[in-house]
Amino acid sequence: MPKNNNKILKMNIKIYLAELRWYCAGVHRAIDILNKAIEQFPTPIYVNHEIIHNKYIINYYEKKWIIFWEDLKNIPENSIMIMSAHWVGPEYIKKVKEKNIKYIDASCPLVVKVHNEAKKFLSEWYEIIYIWKKGHQEAEWVKEEDKNKINIISNIEDLNNLSTEGFSSLALLTQTTLSVNETKDLISKITEKYPEIILPKAKDICYATTNRQEAVEKICEKQLDLLIIIGSKNSSNSTKLKEIWEKKWIKSILIDSSEDIFNSPIIPFHKGDEHKKINIWISSWASVPEILVKEVLDFFKNNYNTEIEIVKTIEENIIFPSNLELK
Ligand code: SF4
Repeated sequence: MPKNNNKILKMNIKIYLAELRWYCAGVHRAIDILNKAIEQFPTPIYVNHEIIHNKYIINYYEKKWIIFWEDLKNIPENSIMIMSAHWVGPEYIKKVKEKNIKYIDASCPLVVKVHNEAKKFLSEWYEIIYIWKKGHQEAEWVKEEDKNKINIISNIEDLNNLSTEGFSSLALLTQTTLSVNETKDLISKITEKYPEIILPKAKDICYATTNRQEAVEKICEKQLDLLIIIGSKNSSNSTKLKEIWEKKWIKSILIDSSEDIFNSPIIPFHKGDEHKKINIWISSWASVPEILVKEVLDFFKNNYNTEIEIVKTIEENIIFPSNLELK
């Protein structure tokens, strides 16, 4: 663990460590499936997307001959593939089967549930409005069910441009990882425009997203100088946590690992602050392995007078069973 000689070693740091920070049940299941597949099948094993959005995890598995590729052109026939936690659509699966690729479905059951609701509505001749975070694969793949009848929108402008003339029945679905707070204004505009629309069930929203965003409110009760979120920049949920905190005027940074702290002057102190106590909250998104959290804590312990307090927010005990069914 590096020591940062530029730091004032006597500085006192109080770290509040969020207890709710490790893998959600969907990520845990996907990783479990990947580990079992490595034991059971010859490598390379292909994964259709990053199994979870975390650089450390991706590097770790690449060293074990796991190849993360979406483009099927590069994947040889008769290979073994794992479909990652946020689902793949029917067109992709069709192409996989055409190449005789055997696959294991590691999709999160919560994502599959919303996907199945979309299929049910389509079979009953509904048109669907689906709220997504732009660029997220979950929506792209749900849309593969019927590109003409699933309208994906992410803001009021999209809603204003939406024409659903000719369809009497409309249903609303949302991406699992969007919280109630993120969608409530848009949903209220949708119901103004389409009062008859069938609304999504509250339980369609991912519990892990809701819990972590609710924990943010609790965090903001503390007097903080800095918030550190451990998570990769391509994880939309990690960047979302950062945005929420910034809206509450708390300086926050998103780091991949302790190296990022070492390489950048992130601690907000000035000359004369040597005896001041700096309060830092550390949290991570649901796709971050605990070893990265430990490394960041070790960094502080090695460089500062550090006191750590674990803060309980919301307890989670959901488990999704995993199995290695080859399809
Ligand atoms: S964040 Fe939620 S929806 Fe996504 S994998 Fe985890 S539990 Fe499933």
